[in-house]
Amino acid sequence: VVELGMPSRTVITTCAYCGVGCSFKAELRGTELVRMVPHKDGGANEGHSCVKGRFAFGYATHPDRVLSPMVRDSITDPWREVSWEFAIETVARRFREIQGAHGPGSIGAISSSRCTNEEVYVVQKMVRAAFGNNNVDTCARVCHSPTGYGLKQTFGESAGTQDFKSVALADVILVIGANPTDGHPVFASRMKRRLRQGAQLIVVDPRRIDLVRSPHVEAAHHLQLRPGTNVAVVNALAHVVVTEGLVSRDFVASRCEGYDEWATFIASPENSPEAVEGITGVPAATVRAAARLYANAGNGTIYYGLGVTEHSQGSTMVMGLANLAMATGNVGRDGVGVNPLRGQNNVQGSCDMGSFPHELPGYRHVSDDVVRELFSARWGAPILAEPGLRIPNMFDAAIDGSFRGLFVHGEDIAQSDPNLSHVTAALSAIELVVVQDLFLNETAKFAHVFLPGASFLEKDGTFTNAERRINRVRAVMPPKTGKSEWEIVCEIATAMGYPMAYSHPSEIMDEIAAMTPTFAGVSFEALDKLGSIQWPCNAAAPAGTPVMHVDSFVRGRGKFVRTAYVATEEQTTRRFPLVLTTGRILSQYNVGAQTRRTGNVAWHPEDLLEIHPHDASERGVSEGDLVRLASRVGETTLRATISDRMPVGVVYTTFHHPVTGANVVTTEHSDWATNCPEYKVTAVQVALVPAK
Ligand code: SF4
Repeated sequence: VVELGMPSRTVITTCAYCGVGCSFKAELRGTELVRMVPHKDGGANEGHSCVKGRFAFGYATHPDRVLSPMVRDSITDPWREVSWEFAIETVARRFREIQGAHGPGSIGAISSSRCTNEEVYVVQKMVRAAFGNNNVDTCARVCHSPTGYGLKQTFGESAGTQDFKSVALADVILVIGANPTDGHPVFASRMKRRLRQGAQLIVVDPRRIDLVRSPHVEAAHHLQLRPGTNVAVVNALAHVVVTEGLVSRDFVASRCEGYDEWATFIASPENSPEAVEGITGVPAATVRAAARLYANAGNGTIYYGLGVTEHSQGSTMVMGLANLAMATGNVGRDGVGVNPLRGQNNVQGSCDMGSFPHELPGYRHVSDDVVRELFSARWGAPILAEPGLRIPNMFDAAIDGSFRGLFVHGEDIAQSDPNLSHVTAALSAIELVVVQDLFLNETAKFAHVFLPGASFLEKDGTFTNAERRINRVRAVMPPKTGKSEWEIVCEIATAMGYPMAYSHPSEIMDEIAAMTPTFAGVSFEALDKLGSIQWPCNAAAPAGTPVMHVDSFVRGRGKFVRTAYVATEEQTTRRFPLVLTTGRILSQYNVGAQTRRTGNVAWHPEDLLEIHPHDASERGVSEGDLVRLASRVGETTLRATISDRMPVGVVYTTFHHPVTGANVVTTEHSDWATNCPEYKVTAVQVALVPAK
């Protein structure tokens, strides 16, 4: 037992891990952070936390932290520590030289959903105003970009509909492609509380996740579909709703458009549960029972994750879920809705801040003359009307030689992005790679300039969680590097000839609020007063908006969209007979850069391949054996664990460790609308690695 004693100082801040956005009291003795205590008044967590937020903050003071800027001429040279002035001058000069030689569009930036809203805002502003192009993208490209697209098309706003509290009023909860117990633990507890009170649960997932059967919780239905067949399943659910007369006629007539055409499509026999059973692997009777349960729920609500978005039909699936919710009248009040569970702390915020190459802050398209003029006038710089390069386009352009300079902020693309051999080939071809991060990560192996970043404990700003809740992040200690991350970005822009200066992140938020109607009422002062605010927050909703689309949809009428199922090109073959799907585990977080540098690593020291006993036995694989996992784009070696959580023919692994590198095998297939990679479906072969 460690006697901690009374803290000398307490700072209320926000967890830097998942999209739940738990509020914590950071307790310090002197300058040392001794404890993170979940804040009972935290809007998202109400005093709860998980093992990541509560215990895994030690990475912030880990000796691997780089604290000085570093440069090198070639990636085979050793790093040289340099002054901030030299590093920033080098970045600015070399970016300008590249643009001089190869054109203004030859450079760009990738921002991070782990960074604050204010940091993301200045990165996209630097790209648009100082670089003079729209080549800015965010790591949300590879997770929830289909959410942004799909919910905008159908509802008019690229965000979830509800606050977390709303789940307490749900009668039926439909969880699709999400594993909240591991990915969003504090919200999972809220959901389980409601389930213990009697709400019914439907799980749609290839894997038998914890929610399907855990102490005191059992799903009424588990639709254990084949990976890649989501759209066929959601269409079959909607088919039952339409053909069995379960449509909420009043809601559809008064609130929606496009119903008749959609209903004709969805009622066609090829969308029936019986017709798609051979495709999805889900018994038709189970689909019918699940559809009836959801449609007759009273309050039916949908929560979904990357198992929905990371597919070649990710955007189609998001719209399919929106169709289902509208058809049953499950939008616009407490206890219902369509809710993306965001993986990272600030996925919602990074998208809100205009870090996509086609959108300015507030999801306004760069081709909109009025909006572009507004930003041009405020920033004193012209904004291009043409969308810039998405992340995969940047990689392709790097390989063909037209994209020569990249600023990567808080994102380890050389571990997180699919088809890693393509990613690393692209990075190798880029003349100037600038990485701003805490650690020399996998991407930094290809960098020429390393700008040391600040941990969340050293930041002032805001994160926006999965329920659109803007939470304050407050510095517990000054930046160990001597510079805030937003300052670094502003100094690069200034050195490139576009002056950018703020005295504090609150000034950046004031600019965001002035330029973004959904943030009009947001300020640090208002956040300090209210604790947190869910956008939209403006004159009409000064305290924010917990539930959206109450009287009408943001776009006016909710729009039904035809969502035809199209099989992914990534099909199994004789050579690659199994399907790999990926996910995460409670104790670890994404590429593991943070959690692997804490005690949490002991709980998951390596990524394992879950394989069904039947598939294991066919290959002579026993528990703990090393296996070779190969797809048509790459191969890796990892340890097998035998489990019947996956059906026969499907294997599963996590992607937290660079040594294993699950993304060595994932492919370039991506969502048709947004290029979100199809991480969830890779045809693979698994073979025992013979013992030496
Ligand atoms: Fe942090 Fe998410 Fe855990 Fe909350 S649930 S403590 S936000 S990782």
